[in-house]
Amino acid sequence: MVDLLLIGGGHAHLGILREIRTKAVEYQVTLISASQYQYYSGMFSGYTEGFYSKSDIRINLQKICEQAGVTFVEDTIIKVDAANRKLIGVSGNVYDFNVVSFDIGSSIENLDGSVKQIKIKPNFIFPNEISEFRETSFPVIVGGGAAGVEMALSVQAWRCKNGYKDNVTIISSSSILSSVSNKAETKILKIVKQKGIRVFENDEIVEVSTQGLVTKNGEHIACSHLLPLTGPKPSSLFVDSSLPLDTKGFLLVGKTLQVTDFPWLFGAGDCVTIADYLSLPKNGVYAVRQGPILWGNINHYLQGRQLTSFDPQKKFVSILSVGQREGLLTYGKSAYYGKWAWLLKHWIDKKFMEKHK
Ligand SMILES: Cc1cc2nc3c(=O)[nH]c(=O)nc-3n(C[C@H](O)[C@H](O)[C@H](O)COP(=O)(O)OP(=O)(O)OC[C@H]3O[C@@H](n4cnc5c(N)ncnc54)[C@H](O)[C@@H]3O)c2cc1C
Repeated sequence: MVDLLLIGGGHAHLGILREIRTKAVEYQVTLISASQYQYYSGMFSGYTEGFYSKSDIRINLQKICEQAGVTFVEDTIIKVDAANRKLIGVSGNVYDFNVVSFDIGSSIENLDGSVKQIKIKPNFIFPNEISEFRETSFPVIVGGGAAGVEMALSVQAWRCKNGYKDNVTIISSSSILSSVSNKAETKILKIVKQKGIRVFENDEIVEVSTQGLVTKNGEHIACSHLLPLTGPKPSSLFVDSSLPLDTKGFLLVGKTLQVTDFPWLFGAGDCVTIADYLSLPKNGVYAVRQGPILWGNINHYLQGRQLTSFDPQKKFVSILSVGQREGLLTYGKSAYYGKWAWLLKHWIDKKFMEKHK
């Protein structure tokens, strides 16, 4: 029987598990993931503010595997021998396969220096880490993209509610949310300032010490804990396995989500870069959309049929939680702000989670 390994319980693989749950397959399917739980980043802000519990924001991979007739193994893969079709786990176990698919997400780079740094990836470490960060004397977030801004606003909202007097600081090497649109940038800057967050835009940290941070523009910033959210960084797995990579170190795949030279290796989500779309942003939306193409192509490959291409849509709706049950919805260059946007996000996120119960 064909051995199909799914590595990582990320968004694309969740789609495959949901599919197998309704339509049994003839392969021996195994999901190997670093934790039994997959935490959903779309609800990190609501968890941080105290609206959701741990069980609201996590998916039990073992349970969904049982429902789908898939074997679940908790292990972290540390080496891929593509030619001999073997994987090695941190447990020391060796896994043989006919076809393997990777959906292991990305990591976040820590800065050099002696201040305590918070890591929220892999996602199963998020709840404990964010609790420590919320309560610290001088919390600083580095990174002015959607993740950095959303986390800053939710930590700030939690601190206001719980009587903490010192506010959150964001340091961004560009204007905040500049990669989204001018409209979003203007709106979010106003919101962030209204909520009392200190923002240092177009600036960079040049020194990190127990006394605080020093920036390129000469600012001295008090910092007891630092949360770096400077964008996705690749996992070391593919570098250590001498596989084809993009210039940053992400696994390079074609539009069919296959690795050139090793067509029995597939990948989706943050951990891959599609050669035809080198600058495609890495986010959960694309990881989810890749799920059905990935599953279709794995099946077609095993059946010797023609594979299809993943072509990302140019625009998609994104809703940023901005604290106190308010949201900022962006679509292309448009941006809209209000309580209704948060309610819509809450409804979408809850619906997504219900699919995995
Ligand atoms: C604070 C924050 C908020 C965000 N909000 C949004 C949002 O609202 N919308 C959006 O679209 N995107 C959002 N993102 C981005 C989003 O989280 C990622 O793009 C998305 O999670 C990527 O999904 P994935 O399927 O690639 O991997 P992930 O969801 O990261 O899943 C990877 C899985 O692989 C497992 N794993 C990792 N390494 C290994 C290994 N070596 N072996 C075995 N298993 C492994 C992990 O445990 C995990 O189960 C946010 C990011 C952050 C940091």
